[in-house]
Amino acid sequence: MQSAPQPQPGILDIALYQGGASKVAGHSDVLKLSSNENPHGAPASAQAAAAEAAAAMHLYPNTDHAGLRAKIAEVHGVEAERIICGVGSDEIIHWLCQAYVGPGDEVLHPEYGFLMYPISTRAAGGAPVAVGERNRTVDVDAMLAAATERTKLVFIANPANPTGTFLGGQDVVRLADGLPDGCLLVMDGAYAEYVEDFDGGLGLAGARQNVFVTRTFSKMYGLGGMRVGWGYGPQEVIDVLNRLRGPFNLSNVALAAAEAAMADRAFVDRCLADNTTQRTRLIDGLRDLGLGCDRSEANFVLARFADEDEALACDAFLKSQGIIVRHVAAYGLPHCLRMTVGDDAGTTRLLDALGTWRAA
Ligand code: PMP
Repeated sequence: MQSAPQPQPGILDIALYQGGASKVAGHSDVLKLSSNENPHGAPASAQAAAAEAAAAMHLYPNTDHAGLRAKIAEVHGVEAERIICGVGSDEIIHWLCQAYVGPGDEVLHPEYGFLMYPISTRAAGGAPVAVGERNRTVDVDAMLAAATERTKLVFIANPANPTGTFLGGQDVVRLADGLPDGCLLVMDGAYAEYVEDFDGGLGLAGARQNVFVTRTFSKMYGLGGMRVGWGYGPQEVIDVLNRLRGPFNLSNVALAAAEAAMADRAFVDRCLADNTTQRTRLIDGLRDLGLGCDRSEANFVLARFADEDEALACDAFLKSQGIIVRHVAAYGLPHCLRMTVGDDAGTTRLLDALGTWRAA
């Protein structure tokens, strides 16, 4: 009898991505604050557009995403030809690794960086290199010191997940300027919309050959379940990634929802204002309870406990109250819980539960 096929080298080194739970036994009113989803749901405009598009679900979707790319280009003031849309920004991260990384190549990412960077690097046969951070923030000097001629990609998320920290424009430019020739800096802007007056690196990616930006509809735009992301960067990179893109990678329902959401400035403005208010409440509340909590520029905060046992005890207590947060041991922060910023009622419920846990 034949044996099962062996995967390519590196694939068995991939640690399975563990998605969080969305249910808690015995609770019908679960408060899910573990995946940085929008507590206000999807915009009504996107829901209506998706319902309308669903009527044509027997038809293949548009293959070049022209409508969505045009809308993104209009809203962000960028060139539609230099945009590519993927099944979440995860798919774009994956293409970047497939296109530019192979055996013997290295990909740098910050020590506490998003888990898809090492996963996609290994899937392409490359070696992920975790570079130490300074105060849970990207350390540009350490990144530059770690970059060699084997380094093909450097991933940073800005703001970063799970730390919520932000790297300023001058530091980003210094990083881009100092990388070896032929190495692409990928700025992951999954949470860029939560930073006021920040273009997410689009200006830089538009002006340089070695910077690429990824963005998503999963967070601010409230469309995590639709799976739509986009990338922007040098035309040469877009042309390469398009060769890897499946012709019908996005459904017509997802495309319609994303296009409507991108046009819904009022929804984004409301969510941004509320996130800023609730995030301040949450950070202040955590600090009042004696927990460590850095300033966050995203839609989540990172709460630091005395040790992993304390973090796990708090996690278990919150779960017993029907509240799901994320223990981020897989990110190298076992003493931390990442908590998505909820709406007003959600933040009150979380702070009340944390207060009860602390008082027990
Ligand atoms: N980058 C970062 C930093 C993230 O936190 C996430 C979502 N967890 C993603 C990318 C992927 O988002 P999506 O695939 O939903 O666009």
